[in-house]
Amino acid sequence: MSPPRTGYVRRVRRDEAPLWPGARPLLTWLDLELTERCNCDCVHCSVNRPAGDPEAKRSELATAEVERLLEAAAGLGCLSVRLTGGEPLLREDFADIYLFARKLGLRTMIFTNAALVTPALAELFARVPPLESLEVSVYGLERGTHEAVTRTPGSFAAARRGLALLAERRVPFYIKGALLPGNAVEREPFERWARGVSGQARPAWVRFLDLRSRRDDDGKNALIRGLRAAPEDVRRDTAALPAADRAELLGFIAAHGGPAGDRLFTCLSTGGKGAVDAYGTFQYCLLLRHPETVFDLKKGTLRTAVTDHLPAVRAMKARDPEYLGRCGRCFLKAFCLQCPAKSWAEHGTLDTPVEYLCAVAHAQAVGLGVLAEGEKAWTVEDWKARIDRPAGAGGGDRQPVRECSQ
Ligand code: SF4
Ligand code: SF4
Repeated sequence: MSPPRTGYVRRVRRDEAPLWPGARPLLTWLDLELTERCNCDCVHCSVNRPAGDPEAKRSELATAEVERLLEAAAGLGCLSVRLTGGEPLLREDFADIYLFARKLGLRTMIFTNAALVTPALAELFARVPPLESLEVSVYGLERGTHEAVTRTPGSFAAARRGLALLAERRVPFYIKGALLPGNAVEREPFERWARGVSGQARPAWVRFLDLRSRRDDDGKNALIRGLRAAPEDVRRDTAALPAADRAELLGFIAAHGGPAGDRLFTCLSTGGKGAVDAYGTFQYCLLLRHPETVFDLKKGTLRTAVTDHLPAVRAMKARDPEYLGRCGRCFLKAFCLQCPAKSWAEHGTLDTPVEYLCAVAHAQAVGLGVLAEGEKAWTVEDWKARIDRPAGAGGGDRQPVRECSQ
């Protein structure tokens, strides 16, 4: 069957593309944090610094440095870049960077809160489509709920204006939200609204909130911990999921469940991917900032980062006896959000179990019926029988509960 055609884009299989004759691209996807700064100050945010933070602004990669980076990425075979932050539209050179990426042929995903979308930017996205939907974070249906999260007066009206500009020009976007104690009552109407404005089945919810990945604010971390979904609520909600959603989750566990031993990196989605922070540090992903895992692009090239540094990081092994005795033996490992980045944010290590994530993974497993109340997943001997793919279960490749919120 010949590959589908969509507009001026012809889709071909990667192994048939003349770009990489007989070879796999060294990098397929780049996450690029354009700034840590944001025009909002969300209660749950694991990244943001104030929009006008002079030190952050001064230290960010300059336009030409970002462009060189994008060129280097494209030279390694990269096809897609995600421009994120903070709020990437805060950068005065955002339109130049965006156009540069698109002229290189990169599909461009943009994470934004939409408040800084101007008519000119919406026009640009319509004229030169990003080829990936924008992902827009919205925190409430009403000004009160939204701004209780963003702590920024005027941000609700600005976000709605930005969304309207995108919609008027038919620029595709997805809505994302964070399920927090203050906006949980709006969940169903919010989902209906998101369906109406974007056409998506339902918004992606962030619920198991990340701590600050730069480990820079204990007070904020305490606030974030207080906003996290309680495990008992997670168990109840999981048990009440529609049959198709339960089948999706069970299908995922069936496809990927099993102990990981001393393997540290078990995330399914990172092959061929890399990330660069606002200051030119190459990372495995934007959340993982442990000094042993990062590579300073001022001291070496992106190619070296991808060919030498990344494989060395991927090959790292877990050493913490507590981790090896629990996570190393746990059949929920691929399902659980525990990973080196979360261990870094919570404990400053790469391989310490994160009690909150452990508790919510267990709560979900109990809600799905693969664990009994009080049972510990790493002690279960008959896990294979329990996770035998149920009839009709889907979800083999999707990782439905992963939340990398940046
Ligand atoms: S969650 Fe998003 S919109 Fe809110 S402060 Fe953080 S980066 Fe900004
Ligand atoms: S559920 Fe607990 S033991 Fe299992 S991988 Fe997650 S943190 Fe480790």
